[in-house]
Amino acid sequence: MDYSAMQDELRALARAKDAVVLAHNYQRAEVQDAADFVGDSLGLSRQAAASEASVILFCGVDFMAETAAILAPEKTVIFPEPRAHCPMAAMVDAEGLAALKAEHPGAVVVSYVNTSAAVKALSDVCCTSANAAEVILAMPADRPVIFTPDCNLGAWVSQKTGRELILWQGYCPTHDLIQPEDILEARDAHPEAKVVVHPECRPDVTVLADAVESTSGMIRFCREDDALEFIIGTEEGMIHRLSTDVPSKRFHLVSQAVVCPTMKMTTLRKAIEALRNGGPVVSVPEETRAKALAAVQRMVEIGR
Ligand code: SF4
Repeated sequence: MDYSAMQDELRALARAKDAVVLAHNYQRAEVQDAADFVGDSLGLSRQAAASEASVILFCGVDFMAETAAILAPEKTVIFPEPRAHCPMAAMVDAEGLAALKAEHPGAVVVSYVNTSAAVKALSDVCCTSANAAEVILAMPADRPVIFTPDCNLGAWVSQKTGRELILWQGYCPTHDLIQPEDILEARDAHPEAKVVVHPECRPDVTVLADAVESTSGMIRFCREDDALEFIIGTEEGMIHRLSTDVPSKRFHLVSQAVVCPTMKMTTLRKAIEALRNGGPVVSVPEETRAKALAAVQRMVEIGR
């Protein structure tokens, strides 16, 4: 299908409305191609905060649009598909986290950015998949650490840092679809390729990979590594991103099943309609925003 007319329409509307269009790496290819910036959740939020535009059209899932609203409260954050709730972020809520904190009164709480603003507000510091190890290593050695919500990312970072973590038992249903057999079959089909998977994959999958990388880390790894072919263990949209950024190399999705239905809910048509209508708009109550911002800022101080 030729999307160029709709992409032109979206770009023209964005100019007219003083909007910047942000799209996550897992968005549909035609949405990525119409965006001003494509990236991971934190990178996009930083773009949101740094942009001079007064309006942000955020093509992603709910917690990402909220994070943009946390970092850029003076801007209008438009979220084209309000039903795009990340199921992993929904696996932890403020009440549940408060109860776990009460069970471990001395613990510090590290939350993945894939959480609601309310959960971030109850956390000491946030992390991304790119800096999780660095953040964990910066936590005081004499205090237990609660890690939410992704037990797979938590297990991987625990192994990497040697630090024991109290893991919330959430997970990404899309990355959880990847099985060890998928890696073995993909290696048989592409014997020259290196396997790069996301740390949201299960431990029995990450152990089989040549590299475990965040989405931004995958781009860097595939660009710099000697291999010319890669088997990619993350959401399908990343193949488009990698093929665009590293066009001299070949990328194979580890399994055709690795598609996040929530990420694919946003279409070009919905993006255009939302921008034209000026909504739906995402905002975060100020008290929650201030606390959540403190957790995000602590992460930034620790480093990227
Ligand atoms: S890929 Fe996983 S973590 Fe990302 S939005 Fe989809 S369900 Fe959430």
